[in-house]
Amino acid sequence: MTAYPPERVWDKNKRGRTKQCVRFMEQSARRNAQAGKTVAKVVKFGGSSLASAEQFKKAGEIIRADETRIYVVPSAPGKRYKNDAKVTDMLYACYALAESGSDFRKELAEIRSRYQEIIDGLELTLSLEEEFAVIEKNFREKTGSNYAASRGEYLNGIIMAEYLGFAFIDAAGVIFFHEDGTLDEEKTDVVLAARLAESGPSVIPGFYGSMPDGSVRTFSRGGSDITGSIVARAAKVDVYENWTDVSGFLVADPRVIENPAGIDVITYKELRELSYMGAGVLHEDSIFPVRQQGIPINIRNTNAPEDNGTWIVGSTCQKSKYVITGIAGKRGFCSINVEKDMMNAEIGFGRKVLQAFEENGISFEHVPSGIDTLTVFVHQDEFMHKEQKVVAGIHRLANPDSIEIESDLALIAVVGRGMKSTRGTAGRIFSALAHANVNVRMIDQGSSEQNIIIGVANDDFAAAIKAIYDIFVVTRL
Ligand code: ASP
Repeated sequence: MTAYPPERVWDKNKRGRTKQCVRFMEQSARRNAQAGKTVAKVVKFGGSSLASAEQFKKAGEIIRADETRIYVVPSAPGKRYKNDAKVTDMLYACYALAESGSDFRKELAEIRSRYQEIIDGLELTLSLEEEFAVIEKNFREKTGSNYAASRGEYLNGIIMAEYLGFAFIDAAGVIFFHEDGTLDEEKTDVVLAARLAESGPSVIPGFYGSMPDGSVRTFSRGGSDITGSIVARAAKVDVYENWTDVSGFLVADPRVIENPAGIDVITYKELRELSYMGAGVLHEDSIFPVRQQGIPINIRNTNAPEDNGTWIVGSTCQKSKYVITGIAGKRGFCSINVEKDMMNAEIGFGRKVLQAFEENGISFEHVPSGIDTLTVFVHQDEFMHKEQKVVAGIHRLANPDSIEIESDLALIAVVGRGMKSTRGTAGRIFSALAHANVNVRMIDQGSSEQNIIIGVANDDFAAAIKAIYDIFVVTRL
């Protein structure tokens, strides 16, 4: 270990640079403003940030503290305390009753009282009576669960607009889907940009838009993040601030590592690798619209607005604080090890093996190979019910010598733009794992050299993450 460069000293410099660069981003936004360029921000607030009047007030203070925060995207009210219900879940449940012809008035009244509590706490005179009459009627007419769920953000948007004195823009009139359910980016961008320009400071509820026939359609759960990103792109803002209940991304999952370090700056690419492996906070699809425009996303904490949070950027001059940016992983994989003598000389062998998976509608995660072996990693729950069909398919298509299946494996991704230029990263990972008595079952380094995927037994999952975290973040050996 001591053969490597003295990381401690080096890292100190890197940390200094990180702060400088965050400051640089903020200063450049200010300079733009002074030069007469319009500086605007989209601020999206998640459900827990708008769960009660108290939380609304915090959001209001944040918005008023910066006059460039002119486009607000609210989620529906989330949980006020640990075992509370999210309004979106209440709406789905209420609509399920309506759809089955049961009485849903009590459930709808409970939803209404969640909003009334917020309105009263904010001392607004707003009445949602008419809105709820329309919702009740539409529920009776079975307008659909997408419509039902969307009312969570729709009503919260009306309250937010009233509270801030901003214009209210119904997302159904500015965000459009194609017939197949994908976003109609072109139409959305044109209509939304024009509408935002004429409305000035406005509130655009998250999570939904409309189909070509005018009916409401929602994104998948957590989709208000996507709305924020779409609004940011249409308005060509400088920053998309995403306000939630944590101060940004963490280097590792806090359920595995106690009180893990935070990530100051992460690239879209790194984030994609980590989110794919289960690191939460932001909806995965929310990256694409802003990425195209190079708009950074700043994840912030409504309950700790003084924290810088995490900046998600296209590229950066900043080295990450540590050699690695983050670690994430998932349990529940299976490996299918296929062996055949002289496999290396048989053209098309890999394709034939993978065809057996394709024929059964199973997507693969990784395919490391040796001279006479090829291993396919798949999600155990997807594969389990079809395993014999897949095995028969491989025999039929590729005629291997043997097939062996191993289950209960975990995959861990170690991600970092700094890994490419740092000698010995892989060496450090594997010696840390060896010291922790973790048997490594698979290694796969992405061609971008920004990630190393490691396969271990499910039971070794936490020990492996701890060992990697310790070596890079705690001891920085
Ligand atoms: N309210 C929706 C949900 O709970 C969307 C969101 O909050 O982003 O999934």
